[in-house]
Amino acid sequence: MTQHTDILVAGAGAAGLTSAIALAQAGFSVTVAGQLDTRRTGRTVALFEASLRLYRALGLWPDLEPIAQPLRRIRLVDDTGNLFRLPPVELEAAEIGLPAFGANIENAALVEALAQIARTTPRISLVEGQITGYEHLPLCVAALMADGTRLEGSLLVGADGRNSLVRQFSGVVTRQWSYPQVAVTAILHDEKPHRATSTEFHTRAGPCTLVPMGKRDGKHRSSLVWLMSPEDAERRMALDDVALAAEIEQQVHGIHGRIGMEGPRGAFPMAGLTCEKLIGERTALVADAGHYYPPIGAQGLNLGLRDVAQLVQSLEDHSHGDAGDAHALSHYDKRRKGDVFTRSLAVDLMNRSLLLHHLPVDFMRSAGLAAMACIGPLRRALMEEGVAPAGRLPRLMREPLPAEA
Ligand SMILES: Cc1cc2nc3c(=O)[nH]c(=O)nc-3n(C[C@H](O)[C@H](O)[C@H](O)COP(=O)(O)OP(=O)(O)OC[C@H]3O[C@@H](n4cnc5c(N)ncnc54)[C@H](O)[C@@H]3O)c2cc1C
Repeated sequence: MTQHTDILVAGAGAAGLTSAIALAQAGFSVTVAGQLDTRRTGRTVALFEASLRLYRALGLWPDLEPIAQPLRRIRLVDDTGNLFRLPPVELEAAEIGLPAFGANIENAALVEALAQIARTTPRISLVEGQITGYEHLPLCVAALMADGTRLEGSLLVGADGRNSLVRQFSGVVTRQWSYPQVAVTAILHDEKPHRATSTEFHTRAGPCTLVPMGKRDGKHRSSLVWLMSPEDAERRMALDDVALAAEIEQQVHGIHGRIGMEGPRGAFPMAGLTCEKLIGERTALVADAGHYYPPIGAQGLNLGLRDVAQLVQSLEDHSHGDAGDAHALSHYDKRRKGDVFTRSLAVDLMNRSLLLHHLPVDFMRSAGLAAMACIGPLRRALMEEGVAPAGRLPRLMREPLPAEA
């Protein structure tokens, strides 16, 4: 059986499903194909203001808000023990006129909710299953599913994550690297309330972050993203819940009181990737298929959703009836380059500065935190850049900050 639509989105994670919904709302017929990954791994995503604007603009926020926990404060704690250690820096969303920087959502719950919306959105066909390969045909790209189904689209959007088959197929040149770190993730029950505050401890092995989650069965909850050496990750993943909770309590200096574990944990080896281009012939890459880096400052999916919003805009403005139009794709690639490059570089530098035991590097990092703590305009500019970057945000994310309105 062969199915043809304007756009074929490969990958049914958060980026693929959001792309499908946004592109269908823009008037394109869309097939979104992939394995739905709704395994519980204790992993959540903190989505910032620009991403929430996208979901509001698409009318999806009423479905997502009930599973999201607002993030009103971010506390950065230098826990490296370095010579220039400073008191914690606390950032408040209210300082930039927002009720919250964004919201934290369990990954699996986000994918489930978006899949449910995609199933009922006109012009979308959701095909669940494994894609085994791709081929170029005149004026379209075809995907072959494991069950023999062929899917064709004038444009192929690669939203198939880190090990993207679309990226390989497109032949784009990549730069890949790894870090001696694994992120251990878990959902925690906390004795004390989190006050909608995310706390990031910067340790010598990488950040250890507690991110607020909504209460369940009367229990305070938060999610954990703890970067550590592969050896420590292997040992901690083998601990029972009581022993792991005790190590977490110690690492976070007991700020949430006694901790309990909820459900399974996850372990994610840390690596980075950038692509020379986010496009190939009748192909565009979005989110982790096109770039990834460690979860520092919660930028990964937020950056990916900016790809999605820009792709929709480039196609709306420049595709002239052919979703795979080379000019529209080139417009998309040009618009995304700067943002992807600067975020990837900033996260890489921040991560490496923690791993290096170098006095001058410690000094620079501490000086940066001190400047953020003391210089109000700088702090506000950095906060705005983090949650809704200045410059050319795509239309779907352009609702003004209350402070700008
Ligand atoms: C520990 C951790 C914490 C993070 N925290 C944050 C955060 O707080 N904020 C933030 O913005 N980002 C965060 N990120 C990054 C964020 O999780 C990713 O950027 C995001 O999940 C990428 O979504 P995606 O849809 O591109 O890829 P994925 O979530 O990997 O989805 C890809 C989908 O494609 C499917 N697929 C792939 N290949 C095939 C195939 N051949 N056939 C069929 N299906 C296929 C997969 O099954 C999957 O469902 C974090 C990452 C990690 C590791």
